[in-house]
Amino acid sequence: MLVRVSDAQNRTLFASLPYSDPLGPEALKALEARSILPTERLFAVNLGKRGMFEFANTRLKNGSLLQIGRNAGRRRVPLEHFVGSCLAVMFPVLLLALGGGALMANRALRPLRELTATVQNIVATGKLDARISPEKTAGELRELVVSFDRMLEKIEELVEGMRGVLDNVAHDLRTPITRLRGVAELALRNPADLVGSQEALADCVEESERVITMLNTLMDISEVETGAMKLNLHRVDVTELARGLTEFYAEVAEERDLKISMSAQGACEAIADENRLRQAVGNLLDNAVKYTPAGGRVEVVVSREAGEVVLSVRDSGIGIPAEDQSRVWERLFRGDKSRSQRGLGLGLSLVRAIAQAHAGDCQVKSEPGAGSEFTLRIPAAG
Ligand code: ADP
Repeated sequence: MLVRVSDAQNRTLFASLPYSDPLGPEALKALEARSILPTERLFAVNLGKRGMFEFANTRLKNGSLLQIGRNAGRRRVPLEHFVGSCLAVMFPVLLLALGGGALMANRALRPLRELTATVQNIVATGKLDARISPEKTAGELRELVVSFDRMLEKIEELVEGMRGVLDNVAHDLRTPITRLRGVAELALRNPADLVGSQEALADCVEESERVITMLNTLMDISEVETGAMKLNLHRVDVTELARGLTEFYAEVAEERDLKISMSAQGACEAIADENRLRQAVGNLLDNAVKYTPAGGRVEVVVSREAGEVVLSVRDSGIGIPAEDQSRVWERLFRGDKSRSQRGLGLGLSLVRAIAQAHAGDCQVKSEPGAGSEFTLRIPAAG
């Protein structure tokens, strides 16, 4: 260690040189040559290429300055060792980190590449059955992959549904239109038969009516599903509406030897489109009467439950097989046992669409051979 005590004029009062260090005298000379006294606690004296001395300063009580220093070169050796070892370790670690990082990024991006490939494949082929396997992914990307697969499933379902509806509509339109043409051709072949022509015309009008009703109902359902249906909302007493409809169907019920009744918990009001609601309840009653054999009964019950108006139409009719119960809401679906009755297979699709347009719903409970209960719920008026 080099120890030096100097006065305020930087004159050396005491100096002790490290006898093993040849740079000691030079460092002392450099200290003495300084015109300005270093005030900082730690400072370095640079001796050019030969090395560097590091000093610590402290002022003594009598005003003199105590400086203790040592050759920084001695420290450089272990430091160089340390830097060397560090480099030797750091380099492979860095390489490893880079390699690992690239590998992980590659793995993490694999589902995204798969996703891009799947989308490109769908765009190129139009086939929606492609899926990405979520087992190979983890974390948020897995969620993305699962959601993407679900979205594809939904789109596929929708497209399948649309295709199915289109096929059914084409099929269901062909029958009445073929009949229409047949009737008209027959009438044209016998122009002299005026009565026959009149009958043919009446047949044509009836058949056209059927086609128009079918197309209108299909359009109504689509309007509700796309949110385009305009509802004319008013306060409607559902009890009154159900009573009116029950009375309307009483005559048909009597003709078919059915008992029809209606009960309610007083007035049950809802904010609804009266005509649409009448159409929905009318369809439920129409079905109940249609699918209940003679001697049976049909019951309409209106009640209020937890902010909702609940309307049930129960019958003791043929019932619906369990496997058909979720399908009765599909457009153009008709149960096997119902084919003997008139119908388009659109009534219940419209009922549910109307209920949903009113922020409500319609459900079915049924037992084949025992009867069915359709329950329509819509929010009650406040
Ligand atoms: P449609 O009555 O014109 O066939 P809907 O959409 O009204 O069409 O009904 C779909 C099917 O649901 C019917 O074909 C019939 O099989 C079944 N269904 C509906 N209501 C009843 C009911 N009350 N009892 C038994 N089956 C019913």
